[in-house]
Amino acid sequence: MKKISILGSTGSIGTASLKIISQFPDRFKVVGLAAGKNIERLRQQIQLFQPDVVSVDGMATAGALRDLVASLPKAVNVLCDEEGIQAVATHPEADLVIAAMVGSLGLVPTLAAIRSGKEVALANKEVLVVGGRILMQEASARGIPVIPIDSEHSAIFQALQGHRKEDLSRIILTASGGPFLKLDPKEASKITPEVALSHPVWEMGEKVSIDSATMMNKGLEVIEARRLFDVPSERIEVVIHPQSIIHSMVEYRDGSTIAQMSVPDMRIPISYALAYPERIANGVPSLRLAIVGELTFMEPDLNRFPALRLAYQALREEESMCAVLNGANEAAVEAFLHRRLSFSEIPSVVERVMACHDPHTYSDIDEALEVNAWAYRLANEFLSAQ
Ligand code: MG
Repeated sequence: MKKISILGSTGSIGTASLKIISQFPDRFKVVGLAAGKNIERLRQQIQLFQPDVVSVDGMATAGALRDLVASLPKAVNVLCDEEGIQAVATHPEADLVIAAMVGSLGLVPTLAAIRSGKEVALANKEVLVVGGRILMQEASARGIPVIPIDSEHSAIFQALQGHRKEDLSRIILTASGGPFLKLDPKEASKITPEVALSHPVWEMGEKVSIDSATMMNKGLEVIEARRLFDVPSERIEVVIHPQSIIHSMVEYRDGSTIAQMSVPDMRIPISYALAYPERIANGVPSLRLAIVGELTFMEPDLNRFPALRLAYQALREEESMCAVLNGANEAAVEAFLHRRLSFSEIPSVVERVMACHDPHTYSDIDEALEVNAWAYRLANEFLSAQ
């Protein structure tokens, strides 16, 4: 029986993970759940999975949740904020922690999980972008696997199994191109949050949907791949593949390229991370290539998608620039969702903040978070001065 804690249990990956877990009651047991403010959904999860401990945002939310769960037959320990997230991330019985929070907030609890010896299934890409080097060092020092849930990185992780790292020549990340692949760049300033939130292939949370539309998501994923697989950025490429059937590829020095393919369905990376190194029948339909018909590929246009160019630029500089890219992007995406910034200005704000930063290497995670927070604040200062 694998015991599991989930950070971000009411979000899109958290919910999808619990759905798979519920289908395998003999294999998985939930011991901890951390969520934000969606206590109605969390109450249902508590009722169904009977965890020992849960955490929410804020004392008032915790109080309201305690009232909601008071009549449940099994008592649950309701905590909040940092202390609560920490308790969920380091629950003494947890074997695996699913890190599925949004943004850099997930960094501290994910690191705490690793330091307490938990295996980590990582969906929260900002964690790797901001503090990836330190996090991966801590994990490898303890021999703890970090299994990616991001579909591209799960594909790469799978394509690396059974091969020697020294034979790897390139990583090729695929990108669907998002909803605006063929949009005239002049039209970009008119894009509203509603339009940007409707991705053609994947249904995702708000932040990652906007990041997909600007292709910052792919930029963050290049950084994520750099940290997860320890491959220099010159050997990580992005290719646009609108059908999203190949989820990424790995090329070896003999010229062989290994791709992981499936219908686009997040149940595959989630169930792979849950059951690793085994595989479970997750109900995903077979890939019928004759029905798909065509797989097409093209080079990404860095002029049309400056966010991707900025991510490569950040990677070429020292690691703090990646946190700056991330912090500024978090602020810009929030401003766009609140209609304080136009779509086409998201990468411009990120670029302005990057230009104000002197990149360096971190000594610890606090420093990484400080740089991220500094970039977030500076982006907001630029936004309010507009
Ligand atoms: Mg992805």
